[in-house]
Amino acid sequence: MGYVDEVLEKVSKKNADQPEFLQAVNEVLESLRPVIDANEELYRKNAILERITEPDRVLMFRVPWVDDKGQVQVNRGFRVQFNNSIGPYKGGLRLHPSVNLGIIKFLGFEQVFKNSLTSLPIGGGKGGSDFDPKGKSDREIMAFCQSFMTELCKYIGADVDVPAGDIGTGAREIGFMFGQYKRIRGMYEGVLTGKGLSYGGSLARTEATGYGLLYLTEELMKCHGESLEGKTVAVSGAGNVAIYAIEKAQQLGAKVVTCSDSTGWIYDEDGIDVALLKEVKEVKRARLTEYAAARKSAQYHEKKNGEHGVWTVKCDVALPCATQNELDIEDAKQLVANGVKVVCEGANMPTTLEATKYLQDSGVLFVCGKASNAGGVATSALEMSQNSERLSWTFEEVDAKLKTIMVNIYHNIDDAAKRYNMEGNYVAGANIAGFEKVVDAMLAQGV
Ligand code: GLU
Repeated sequence: MGYVDEVLEKVSKKNADQPEFLQAVNEVLESLRPVIDANEELYRKNAILERITEPDRVLMFRVPWVDDKGQVQVNRGFRVQFNNSIGPYKGGLRLHPSVNLGIIKFLGFEQVFKNSLTSLPIGGGKGGSDFDPKGKSDREIMAFCQSFMTELCKYIGADVDVPAGDIGTGAREIGFMFGQYKRIRGMYEGVLTGKGLSYGGSLARTEATGYGLLYLTEELMKCHGESLEGKTVAVSGAGNVAIYAIEKAQQLGAKVVTCSDSTGWIYDEDGIDVALLKEVKEVKRARLTEYAAARKSAQYHEKKNGEHGVWTVKCDVALPCATQNELDIEDAKQLVANGVKVVCEGANMPTTLEATKYLQDSGVLFVCGKASNAGGVATSALEMSQNSERLSWTFEEVDAKLKTIMVNIYHNIDDAAKRYNMEGNYVAGANIAGFEKVVDAMLAQGV
C-alpha cells in the first residue's frame, strides 16, 4: 500500500467520529499524491503525513456563563493549535450550535495550508464553541465571551496563538474577548485580530475576506480572457464574507442577484442593494425577510429541506460564502446546466468533494476556499504587523497589499498545478503550494 493510503487508513480509524475532518484530510492528501509519490522516502522517514494530520494540541474546556434570567448555562469551548511551523497559530473562533471537535479540527487543518498560501509567517489553528449567539442579549454575549476568554487566555499570546473572528464572532465578540484578556493578563498586546479601529484593529480587515475573494476571482478570469464586467453572480450567505464579496463584485461591474441566511434566500433581479443588506444584517441583526419587505425587486424564498436555493439561479459566477458542504452534487449539476463558468469559494469547504469533482470535470474554473478566502487571514496578519510596529496603515495601503497577496496566491496555485502537470486544477495547486512550504519548515526544524 502506498504512503497516502496507509496514512488515510490510520487517520480514518483514529477520527472515525469526525466526518468533516476526514473529508478535509481526504481532499488534501488525495490531491497531494504526485508530490508525496515523488518524495515518498523522505516524507515516510520523517512521518510528515502522520505529523501534519495530527494537531500539535487540542484544548477543550467548560464555558459557564449566567443568562438574563440568572440561570447558569454551560457551553463547550475549543482551541485546536494545529501547526506552528511557519508562525504563531492563527485562525478564527466559530460560535455556532453545530460546532464540535471534528469541525474545529477540519477548519484548523485547512487553516494550516491557507495561512501558508498567504506568504505571511502564520501557522494554523482554529477554535470556537457550540454557543449560539442568535437571540442573545448584548449582556449575555459579553458574559459568554468573558468566560470563554477566562480559560482561553492561558494558552494564547501575540507570538503564540492569535485568534480572530469567524461565523458568529464579529467585532462585538472580539471586543469583549480582548477586554477580558487585557484585564486578566494585565497587558495590551495584539493577541486577537479583527479588533475595533480605536484599539489596534486594521482598516480593511472587515472587508478583507470578501474583497480578497473578488480580487482572486478577477485575476483568475483575467488570465482566462474574461472579466467580471456585466456578469451575473450568485452569492450564498449574508454574513461578513458575503456582504463584502457582493460589494466588491458590484464595484467590479458584476450584478449580484442572490444572498441567503439560515432561514431563506433572496433573488433580487435589480442586483442586491448592499447598503440595505448591511442595515438588515449588520445593524438590525435581522432576517432577510426584512430585506425583501423593503425592496420591490426582491423575492424572498423560505428555505425548505431538499431545495437548492441560490444555486438554481442562472449565473456566470457562483460564490458560496455561507458554510461547509452547502453546495452539493445536485447544486453543481444545476449550476452547470445553467451555464456557470466560475466557482470560487468564500466559505471554508462549502462544496462537497463530489460536487467539486463534477464542476472540475465540467470545465468550470473552480478555486477552493483555502486559496480564494485567504484574504481575511492575510489581512489579520497585516493587523499583527501593524500592532508590532505600533502603527496604523491607511485603508488604501492595506487594500493594495491585500490585492497583491490575492493575485500572488492565484499565480502560485496555478504554477504549482502546472509543475505537476495538473494545469487548471486549482484545488491541487492550492494544496501543493500550501503543503510544500509547511513541510519545508517542518523538515528544517526537526522533531
Ligand atoms: N476565520 C477566518 C478564516 O477562516 C479568518 C481567520 C483569521 O483572521 O485569523 O480564515
